[in-house]
Amino acid sequence: MAKSTPSICFDCKNGYAHKCEWVHTYTPVPGWEYKDVMREKTKGIQVIKCPNFERESDAKRNKTVRTERILELAKNSKLSVRMIAEKVGVSDYTVQQEVKKLKRKVACVKCGAEFEKKGSQKWCDKCRKEKKK
Ligand SMILES: [Zn+2]
Repeated sequence: MAKSTPSICFDCKNGYAHKCEWVHTYTPVPGWEYKDVMREKTKGIQVIKCPNFERESDAKRNKTVRTERILELAKNSKLSVRMIAEKVGVSDYTVQQEVKKLKRKVACVKCGAEFEKKGSQKWCDKCRKEKKK
């Protein structure tokens, strides 16, 4: 079995839940080619060719796109960390980190702005500063 290699889905501009059956419901796309791979000691697949594949511009194939995709899947699907990792072509650890960040983000009770929560904080840093004055 081949070593961990990301699926072409990561380079594909259709690799989003609302554009791809595979990403959306984990339904294999008819006419694609894939091979079995091991990722983090778990059996997975690497998509090699797909009729829906359209290359995303190089400028967009970066960490931001990958993070966007992880967050989109984490928010809009009921997939496990493992399945999201498989689809995006990253490790389980990367997905866990992004999901953790997502869960820490809450809306400020006072102004409604999103901020990363630390402990039992209910107000964003800005409102907390203003309160202290
Ligand atoms: Zn606030």
